[in-house]
Amino acid sequence: MNTAQTTPPTWLRRWDGPLTANLTLRPADFGLGLVPARLAPTATTTMVCGYCSTGCALKIHLQDTQAVNLTPDPDYPVNLGMACPKGWEALTPLRAPDRATQPLLRDPRTGRLEPVDWDHALQVFTLRFKALMDQHGPESVAFLSTGQICTEEMAFLGALFKFGMGALHADSNTRQCMATSAVAYKQAFGFDAPPYTYADFEESDVLVFIGSNLCIAHPILWQRVLRNARHPEIVVVDPRTTETALCATQHLPIRPKTDLALLYGTAHLLIANGWIRRDFIEQHTTGFDEFARFVAPFTPERVSRETGLTTPQLHRFARTIAHGRAVSFWWTMGVNQGHESTRTAQAIINLALITGNIGRPGTGPNSVTGQCNAMGSRLFANTTNLLGGRDFANPDHRATVARILGIPQERIPDRNSLTYDQILDAIDAGAIRGLWVIATNPFHSWIGRDRLHALLDKLEFLVVQDMYTSTDTARHAHLILPAAGWGEKEGTFINSERRIGLVKKVARAPGQALSDFRIFQLIAHYWGCADLFRAWTSPEAVFQILKRLSAGQPCDFTGIRDYQMIDACGGIQWPWPEHETSSRGHAATIHALRTSLRERRLFADGRFPTPDGRARFLFEPPRPAPDQPDAHHPFILLTGRGTSAQWHTNTRTGKSEVLRQLYPQQTYVEVNPADAARLRIVTGQTVEVSSRRATVRATAVVTPAVQPGHLFMPMHYPETNRLTVPAFDPYSRQPAYKHTAVRLRPVPARSHTTTQP
Ligand code: SF4
Repeated sequence: MNTAQTTPPTWLRRWDGPLTANLTLRPADFGLGLVPARLAPTATTTMVCGYCSTGCALKIHLQDTQAVNLTPDPDYPVNLGMACPKGWEALTPLRAPDRATQPLLRDPRTGRLEPVDWDHALQVFTLRFKALMDQHGPESVAFLSTGQICTEEMAFLGALFKFGMGALHADSNTRQCMATSAVAYKQAFGFDAPPYTYADFEESDVLVFIGSNLCIAHPILWQRVLRNARHPEIVVVDPRTTETALCATQHLPIRPKTDLALLYGTAHLLIANGWIRRDFIEQHTTGFDEFARFVAPFTPERVSRETGLTTPQLHRFARTIAHGRAVSFWWTMGVNQGHESTRTAQAIINLALITGNIGRPGTGPNSVTGQCNAMGSRLFANTTNLLGGRDFANPDHRATVARILGIPQERIPDRNSLTYDQILDAIDAGAIRGLWVIATNPFHSWIGRDRLHALLDKLEFLVVQDMYTSTDTARHAHLILPAAGWGEKEGTFINSERRIGLVKKVARAPGQALSDFRIFQLIAHYWGCADLFRAWTSPEAVFQILKRLSAGQPCDFTGIRDYQMIDACGGIQWPWPEHETSSRGHAATIHALRTSLRERRLFADGRFPTPDGRARFLFEPPRPAPDQPDAHHPFILLTGRGTSAQWHTNTRTGKSEVLRQLYPQQTYVEVNPADAARLRIVTGQTVEVSSRRATVRATAVVTPAVQPGHLFMPMHYPETNRLTVPAFDPYSRQPAYKHTAVRLRPVPARSHTTTQP
């Protein structure tokens, strides 16, 4: 390690507040001593993939304790020996040349990022954030984090920031993908509790996919559907003829953002025809009579007018649900990323409740989430929920957390953080002046992303903690903290079906990059609050703390003894409370979790974690989407996943030569043949797409996959979110990425310019 001190720039010398004592970094911090004690020099070890929420297990092949290759694990209950292209290429991004290998600090004289050592970087981090908080109050700084780091790291970050540093405002990019599902479940069931297990894909008679292109976004879960031997009905509700829709037995090509009318109309038909489970409704739900009155006006004729579907299509859909013995409803971003997304998710939940399709094999209102550890974030990120799925505003919850952590209760805020969009508003208003971004790339991914550039002048201090120095966000940082990636550190992820799986250290982080966990430890020392985190000595020590924080909650996993038990069982779904292990004994528990209890679903007893034990019907009238088309912007732009070889902003998938062969390198836009003929556009031509905020260029792909009047652009290209409109669901504050009014025009051949992202 280079310990030479770089001369602090002049602006830094303005702050002469107290510096904490230097903390000695150990050689092991930089990968030199990273031989994982549990791994033999040449061996294989199994760990969970670091991309999506499916949570596949990969066997990592080691040479001299370092990963050299991988194969999917045939024994893991999630992927059964399969992996998608991203999983097969999971090790490649670790070796990319643009890895962040040492801290970088922007020199205000030259404007360039210059290398500094960790001591200098952490002193600057501490001095500048403390100075902002001293001058403008504790609410003048914020962090934006991720669903991509380990649960133990998320918990450490949230606890450090709020209880240690005394700040308040924090959110993560999970706001962009599953905040809606979390709020919808919490309001309807009393807890953020996706009820299903992946075996349900194989055990349904009817699978309904709403706003979910499972084939592409969750390809291994689609393989689970293909294993279904019951010849199920597959209904896909999607404005676009997606890869999943092509495989459907019924495709409902709905008008964008009219799902709520369709779902209420379907409930109306089910109730009107008596195709409901009255016994289940009476014993396990509350609010049905009001709901039935509410949906009565959603006649097939009205719903047909609003959705663009025919009345026979609506009747057939309702009949299919009614006649299914086991019906499962699956949704992803097409629902979550809408202006009325929470009520839409709850309209799906309502259908499951009135038909009694919950708690049995092959059933459930099931949100498939996005990122590898979005579910860990939902329970333990300590952003807008208190640790363990609790509430900051609840004094009993604060007291419980304070007791378990051994900290004064006054250190726990008694109110929620601002959400992601509200944090940006606060930057705009000058209330937030310092921002710490961890493992996410909002300058690419945020809705209407040009706004971020406009806010740069208002940010006095932007810290980016990331694996790479080259992301759109890192390029604007004042300070870059180099972080280890998946495979270079330990911890746990929780997948979409609530399965806790292990991440292991199988590669050295490059240069001076540190695990996020270690960075948080160091910041605690430099900030002067390390005493609060004396017990947070390692990821596994924090896992033990998280267990205690889960005790008595619906997510209780106190029966999981340690990481080795997770490894031995092939992941363990929550809940798994202590009595489940103690009543069986350890060996019998592992056997049970590997066999008969390998797949578990919630609510089999019909009891929900609400005060009265009943699920709630929640509903409200549909509203038109914001940003409606007009004569100037006559098209509706849809966005979504491009291919299964791409992940979000391509930060990691773009590093793989193999994956780059599997998707177009140029930004492209899908155009219906009728629109293309009218505008004289052909495939391969450069076109201009303009919204009310920006104009971008893209390559046209003429395809009937989109309906006349619709366009589709994948989210992976930075141009796409220059167009999208910053609109949000009022309950989840999730951005509405899926509906933007745009104009399309061909670009004359002589004015073609590059459209490379
Ligand atoms: Fe990884 Fe998701 Fe692909 Fe499985 S489906 S290999 S978890 S990216």
